[in-house]
Amino acid sequence: MKNLYNDEVAKKFQSDLELRVYTSNLLGQSDELVLHGGGNTSVKTIIDGEDILLVKGSGWDLVSIKAEGFSPVKMDTLLDMAKLETLSDSDMVSGQKKAMINQSAPNPSVEAILHALIPYKFVDHTHADAVVTISNSKTGQENIKKVYPNFLIVPYVMPGFILAKTIYEMTKELDWDNIDGIILHNHGIFTFDNDAKKSYTKMIEAVTKAEEFLDKNATIELKDITPKEFDITKLNISEFIHINQSKLALNYSQLSKDDLTRGVLTPEHIIRTKRVPLVLEDENVEDALDKFKKEYEEYFKKFATNEIMLDTNPKYAVIKGFGIVSFGKTQKEADVINDVISHTMMAVLRADKLGGYKSISLKDSFEMEYWELEQAKLSK
Ligand SMILES: [Zn+2]
Repeated sequence: MKNLYNDEVAKKFQSDLELRVYTSNLLGQSDELVLHGGGNTSVKTIIDGEDILLVKGSGWDLVSIKAEGFSPVKMDTLLDMAKLETLSDSDMVSGQKKAMINQSAPNPSVEAILHALIPYKFVDHTHADAVVTISNSKTGQENIKKVYPNFLIVPYVMPGFILAKTIYEMTKELDWDNIDGIILHNHGIFTFDNDAKKSYTKMIEAVTKAEEFLDKNATIELKDITPKEFDITKLNISEFIHINQSKLALNYSQLSKDDLTRGVLTPEHIIRTKRVPLVLEDENVEDALDKFKKEYEEYFKKFATNEIMLDTNPKYAVIKGFGIVSFGKTQKEADVINDVISHTMMAVLRADKLGGYKSISLKDSFEMEYWELEQAKLSK
């Protein structure tokens, strides 16, 4: 993976925040690292004599984030929150908001506490494809250990307060100088340093290790497949669709329904794609769609306590021999879903070379899909 840091360009940036914006944009330029709002970054600085975490605000993409996209949050408050035994994510969000020194800044990332806990100036977090590909496989536990012997390796837990709390507990006795970074299984990777260039470079180098591991152990060969005919008007789900008939999509569409429904690559994708697609082999489209909705309702009923059920329609369909069709409420949404699925397809095919693709459990998927923070947006 290419290191895009340019010393000449970086010379222009003097302040902590300017450098933070620069390397955040560099991370965002690689869609193998982050996609559409994924990942987050921060820098610790002093403003008016107070320790402040400037952390990515929600609603910003790393590729285009500017200085005003970072929320200034008091470090003290964030570190105090990490010590709480329990805290709902909604209370965490309002607590973080109250601790902002500029109330017109965007809401801080839900990982702000975790960023605060890492005792280095610059913290970089991505959902690097290569890392989650290795992690999301049946041999993920052992292979991640092999590729990252000097990293703190964290088993999957829900993002937000539970993740911050887990890191707090795991690192109480830790000498941070002994680790090179953090791997969050089934989710992503953190690197950090007191220098912006070094923190970014550590990310590129760490992800390159995973890429090299995959090149050695999980190469795939895509076959040439002529797409078959399919009457797309039969899929009456959305007026905005994205049809993908790339070589990758055609190969992926040959997998069995069981293999196509093994879950997402990194938890936040579930909000965009749902856990599984509509899979069409030879059956009647209407029957398949009815079955999809019924199965979705069963999944909802199995885990729901008092949540509001989301739309039961699929977010994308895998049509055997034809390709992938993504559905959006807007064209942009359909295109974004297609991007997410494109990265998922490659990861699944490669993870199958590592003993088989394996994502988070159904229950963990449900908890992410029905996260109280997402539900709160619905009830508004
Ligand atoms: Zn993340």
